[in-house]
Amino acid sequence: MALYGVVETGGTKMVCAVVAGPDDIRAEVRFPTTSPEENIPQIIAFLAAHHAQTPLTSIGIGSFGPIVLDKSVPNYGSVAPTTKPFWSNAPVVAPIQAALGVPVGFDLDVTTAALGELTWGAGQGLHHIVYYTIGTGIGAGIIVNGQPLPCMMHPESGHQRLSRNPLDTFAGNCSFHLDCLEGLAAGPAIEKRWGTKAHLLPPDHVAWEYEADYIAQAIMNTILLVSPQRIILGGGVMEQLHLFPMIRRNVLSRLNGYINTPAILDHIDDYIVPPALGNQAGMLGALVLAMRAAE
Ligand code: ADP
Ligand code: ZN
Repeated sequence: MALYGVVETGGTKMVCAVVAGPDDIRAEVRFPTTSPEENIPQIIAFLAAHHAQTPLTSIGIGSFGPIVLDKSVPNYGSVAPTTKPFWSNAPVVAPIQAALGVPVGFDLDVTTAALGELTWGAGQGLHHIVYYTIGTGIGAGIIVNGQPLPCMMHPESGHQRLSRNPLDTFAGNCSFHLDCLEGLAAGPAIEKRWGTKAHLLPPDHVAWEYEADYIAQAIMNTILLVSPQRIILGGGVMEQLHLFPMIRRNVLSRLNGYINTPAILDHIDDYIVPPALGNQAGMLGALVLAMRAAE
């Protein structure tokens, strides 16, 4: 049976595993995200130890962004210049590929999670989906024809411009933009605006009206730009499940009947949905990347 190495590089932790299939995790290890000098050798040591026992067929890596995904440039597979300390221009794919000598699939974390949901989760049976994560940051994985949208770099949907709620006096939390989705609606923005942990805000707090409105604006933009078959909303903030009906109502009201299709007008409960894989989406997506890299 084929074994695959899967890696999730996150803003706070790294997760590496050896898996034989979506329900068959053979080994897993986690360590805190520090610097590439420390973390890349840790990833290689874990994978190489297993590879020496039973050869891995291939490896899949879902990475925090921004990353270089253009295969025609020499720094393909590295972290792009970023405000995150230590990681600007750090190669990720090259050292792992050199150490293991097997094919390596690589994509953005949120695109990887979208592939996991497409293959084994809330996007099964579909071809065009968008997966938003609304957590410490906001990003969207866009899948077209079963593949990550071919790109110049990768989408940065978390920084789309929104119309500010006229009652919202919070300055915004993005150091690059005023009034972008991440700056207005990511977990840290909610917590700074209201001065309390997001999970402690009661369901009837006006915070959630703002939140649903901002997310709905982004979904409307997404429907108009990409026209996916389904939109999946994950990440810590979406654990507030009462947001789903609020978001759906807001999207319907904003679209105002313009997208005249049953998926939106009659079945919006199946159109804007929670993830099915929970916190496993990234790992399972990395398995999809590994399997595709081996083909
Ligand atoms: P990360 O984005 O760091 O990978 P999460 O998706 O869990 O991790 O996002 C963390 C953010 O989500 C925090 O800023 C926190 O405010 C928010 N969050 C986490 N859990 C909840 C919850 N149950 N309700 C509301 N907000 C939450
Ligand atoms: Zn921004």
